[in-house]
Amino acid sequence: MDLKEFIAIVPDYPKEGILFKDITPLMNNGAAYKEATDQIVEFAKDLDIDLVVGPEARGFIIGCPVSYALGVGFAPVRKEGKLPREVVKVNYGKEYGKDILTIHQDAIKPGQRILITDDLLATGGTIEATIQLVEQLGGVVAGIAFLVELSYLDGREKLDGYNVLTLMTY
Ligand code: IMP
Repeated sequence: MDLKEFIAIVPDYPKEGILFKDITPLMNNGAAYKEATDQIVEFAKDLDIDLVVGPEARGFIIGCPVSYALGVGFAPVRKEGKLPREVVKVNYGKEYGKDILTIHQDAIKPGQRILITDDLLATGGTIEATIQLVEQLGGVVAGIAFLVELSYLDGREKLDGYNVLTLMTY
């Protein structure tokens, strides 16, 4: 199955000059969503993963079915103000601006092996911030998986030394 058939390319969204990759057609198709999930599970199954962590909101869409298949938990990374209990936070820059990401302070136990998931690697700011949150809590980033990588934005350079899977590259 060619998963790229399920990515819609939207010119000038969210602003002029950006070719937005919309993953919702992939999620909308049961066979494609299952195939993408299965490929990430295959990558993760020998990594001894204890927990999946994903940034809002599309990191949940990718990470939750993977955590279910692996039989491990899922911890959400969210924008500041969205998690109700004590958090750790990090400032980050992303393709379209700046923001703060947070995770519950008790979400990860030191030494746990973590799989990070997101829909798309662009400049790498979001994933770099997510890695920092995991590592601040003593988690070990054992793998990072994306559906899509925009290779022309060089996000990979921020992921040197990590075990990274991307299912589609543009
Ligand atoms: P980065 O932080 O620059 O790597 O941007 C990645 C984040 O922005 C991911 O969480 C994506 O959900 C979102 N993003 C950036 N560009 C796109 C796109 O073309 N399609 C879908 N999401 C995108």
